[in-house]
Amino acid sequence: MVRATIPYIDSNGHHSSGYEEVVGQFEATADALGLGEDVRLLLRKPYRELHVELPVRMDDGSVRTFSGYRVQHNGARGPYKGGVRYHPEADLDEVRTLAALMTWKCALMDLPFGGAKGGIQCDPASMSTNELNKLTRRYTSNIAHLIGINRDIPAPDMGTNAQTMAWMMDAYGQIHGYTPGIVTGKPVALGGSLGREEATGRGVFTMLEELCRELGREPASVRVAVQGFGNVGSWTARLAAQAGFTIVAVSDLYGGTYREAGLSIDLVLAHCRKGGRMGDYGGGAPITNEELLELPCDVLVPAATGDVIGDWNWNAVRAGIIVEGANHPVSASADAALADRGVRIVPDIVANAGGVIVSYFEWTQNIQQFRWPEERVNSELHTMLTKAYRAVCDLSNEHGITMRQAAYRIAVGRVADAIELRGFV
Ligand code: NAD
Repeated sequence: MVRATIPYIDSNGHHSSGYEEVVGQFEATADALGLGEDVRLLLRKPYRELHVELPVRMDDGSVRTFSGYRVQHNGARGPYKGGVRYHPEADLDEVRTLAALMTWKCALMDLPFGGAKGGIQCDPASMSTNELNKLTRRYTSNIAHLIGINRDIPAPDMGTNAQTMAWMMDAYGQIHGYTPGIVTGKPVALGGSLGREEATGRGVFTMLEELCRELGREPASVRVAVQGFGNVGSWTARLAAQAGFTIVAVSDLYGGTYREAGLSIDLVLAHCRKGGRMGDYGGGAPITNEELLELPCDVLVPAATGDVIGDWNWNAVRAGIIVEGANHPVSASADAALADRGVRIVPDIVANAGGVIVSYFEWTQNIQQFRWPEERVNSELHTMLTKAYRAVCDLSNEHGITMRQAAYRIAVGRVADAIELRGFV
């Protein structure tokens, strides 16, 4: 059944569209679980939203201000956890949507965290390292009163990376003293976890392996198209190619490259390292990002940004399986339509949870001042992810519901239990 989304109006009277879809999913789940109105009230709106204006003196001497956000959605199961996004379209609605997804993702993976997200509306590609450093420090000091190793722990997301986390850790440390556990996804040299950089892609790749095993398919016979070649997309493509999957297409912001017989991901990586764009890669045919989503392939991995499959293109998607590397890449109505057509979707809160799982390992290592070997990180990641994947598949099969519906039932149920036990309501 397609559930109509409920208009979400924030406390300033602003209409919020992406968040509406996540709330729609929550409400449908709450109906299925028979949750009472008290718990729903708490979970419908984020707990806290902070908007800061960040002045930065740019390299040319001018001053610009950037809007920054931190949204803490729900902390019933532990400190808030969530990435920080630098993107021209990172507004409050987007950050709020991603914060809610983090609540459900952490609960589904049974991590002792609540959900949060941060963002700065900026175009990192057009800024110098010096400008990004200053912006990150300003953002960190303006949200410092909300974060802490037992309060809220940021991490990288789109447009941010280990270097950004190093600056955040340093800026926070200038106020509070050495605190490596304040952020995760740091460089290994500053207390980052081995295996964190590739963890989200490794998680997406684990989904591919599990699906293959279930379907009794040899990896080489599985044709995969990956949209986005940043942290998540490039590691997914790399690990999948190493395991023998046929990667037929990859893309970046400007376009993609397609080769029916499969691309050499090593050569694509070498092309990227030289600063090349996907569309210029000589080993494949140039395609647009829109065309990539409609390619004849077995598995489509949207791993770039949200809302790339919606009413306008779901009907043209030809993959039988979608593994959501990105957050919220499929709109609610497209999700329902694709499910009706028999397309299997491994939802974001399962498929891209590898990053937050290893972030959790990093946080625990920092608190203990102890480093795990990479094999331990990867093996515990595999155990947690496959356990969650199995639980979602089993519930989905048992009740004849989609993997997304099953994942939300587990996640929302856990958060609702924590709320009841704490005696919030
Ligand atoms: P990134 O900045 O490292 O890479 C993003 C990639 O997508 C780049 O190749 C970029 O060129 C491309 N891209 C950006 N906008 C695009 C557009 N409109 N159309 C097509 N391509 C576009 O980001 P990332 O960390 O790889 O994150 C990608 C997605 O995965 C995001 O939705 C993010 O929220 C999600 N995610 C990331 C992590 C993580 O650990 N990094 C964890 C969970 C989920």
